[in-house]
Amino acid sequence: MYEPYPTPELSHEHKNYRYSSLWHYAKQDVRQFLFFILVAVLVGAGIGYIWVCIAIACFIFFSLQLYSLYLVNDWIAHRPYDTPPNLEGIWGALLFNIYRSQRQERVVQAEMVGLIDRAQSSLVALAEAVVLTDELQQIEWWNPAAARLLGIQELDRGRNILSILRQPAFVEYFHNLEQQPDGIKLKLSLQEERYVQVKLTRFGMESRLLVAYDVTRVHNLEQMRKDFVDNISHELRTPLTVLSGYLEMFTDQDDFNPRWKRPFEQMQAQTKRMNALVNDLLLLSRLENDKTIAKNQIVDMPSLMNQLFDDAQAYNADYGHILNLDIDSHCDLIGSDIELASAFGNLITNAIKYTPKEGGVITIGWHDDHDHGYFTVQDNGIGIDPNHLPRLTERFYRVDTARSRQTGGTGLGLAIVKHVLMQHNAHLEIESRPNQGSCFKAVFPKERLYQADN
Ligand code: ADP
Repeated sequence: MYEPYPTPELSHEHKNYRYSSLWHYAKQDVRQFLFFILVAVLVGAGIGYIWVCIAIACFIFFSLQLYSLYLVNDWIAHRPYDTPPNLEGIWGALLFNIYRSQRQERVVQAEMVGLIDRAQSSLVALAEAVVLTDELQQIEWWNPAAARLLGIQELDRGRNILSILRQPAFVEYFHNLEQQPDGIKLKLSLQEERYVQVKLTRFGMESRLLVAYDVTRVHNLEQMRKDFVDNISHELRTPLTVLSGYLEMFTDQDDFNPRWKRPFEQMQAQTKRMNALVNDLLLLSRLENDKTIAKNQIVDMPSLMNQLFDDAQAYNADYGHILNLDIDSHCDLIGSDIELASAFGNLITNAIKYTPKEGGVITIGWHDDHDHGYFTVQDNGIGIDPNHLPRLTERFYRVDTARSRQTGGTGLGLAIVKHVLMQHNAHLEIESRPNQGSCFKAVFPKERLYQADN
């Protein structure tokens, strides 16, 4: 409980000084001085030593003043929190004013201490770990949750936080907070394996506030979901291969009954769709789990663009759109060629799929403005209503489910694109108008561009 400093009551005499001017108190001293002189004159006239008596009166008066000064000094030096000595005149006024401002300061100080105390107790009660570090990255303060979650102990006070949380991901994040606005997830192995989400905030000169909370349960659930999807996709692969193999075998036979042609075609189309779905799910799960695939190859962009263009032309055979290739950059990309080809391929097949057959024009582009590289796919197809755009890259999100199924879509294409781009520090921008067309733009940062010195 917070106990404010005791605030002593002002004595009654002191209250009289409150709103009076300095001259008011000085008058008391003048009156006293005149009184001393008057008495000295009267006594001096009576005994015939008028000047001697006046001198004595002055001496007594100034001695009293010096005594008051001594009391004031003694109070300030030794007992400033006690009620001040009750003095008359300007010394009394001075004393009272000092006492009053000191008392006000103590009230403010007590309020501040109370506030800090309350803030501290609420931080102590928090389930989230809170750690304060100073300009030199040294630990200044932490709450009990930080001790539990991050294993910070009393002997860590004043130690560099980077010598306690040493993971390279944390060190990188500590120096570049802006790159991870949502913080990072860390794996800690104290007594048992735990996952914590850590968020740092810079304040003051270079001090930092660290807030961390346990996300082990969410992490485990997420891992369960990934494992489940991964396992089920693997399990579905073999039956699907067997099914499509037999279907093909039947339809290829010379004595195949034409009555069965349509059902078999439908079965083949559905197994093909399921195959595509399983492949996309496996690709997504690989993108999520296997972050070890090197993302630092130099991807020859002219060659990748030509290969994509050739694939697009083959896919376009059934649609008959006009395809254009527009390369306006000498930069290559730094990343994984397989993943980038897969993401770009998805954007291109989407553009072809979602553009009506008559008069379709699709332009695949690669250009840069020195700061960014842009891979673009522009079409004049069915377009997308703006209210669908924020959710478009979610798994299985489709604007028109029936149409997507009809075109063999799995609903995972843009989710794959988003993941691949994220792992290349890039992002997707979509501009689209219903019935007018869409432009999907993958924006790569400068660090991902590579320009060979000629
Ligand atoms: P799908 O396999 O269904 O195509 P995607 O994740 O690739 O799944 O795309 C999600 C949805 O976004 C699609 O169902 C479609 O409605 C919409 N979409 C994607 N690309 C385009 C495009 N170029 N033009 C219009 N709609 C598009």
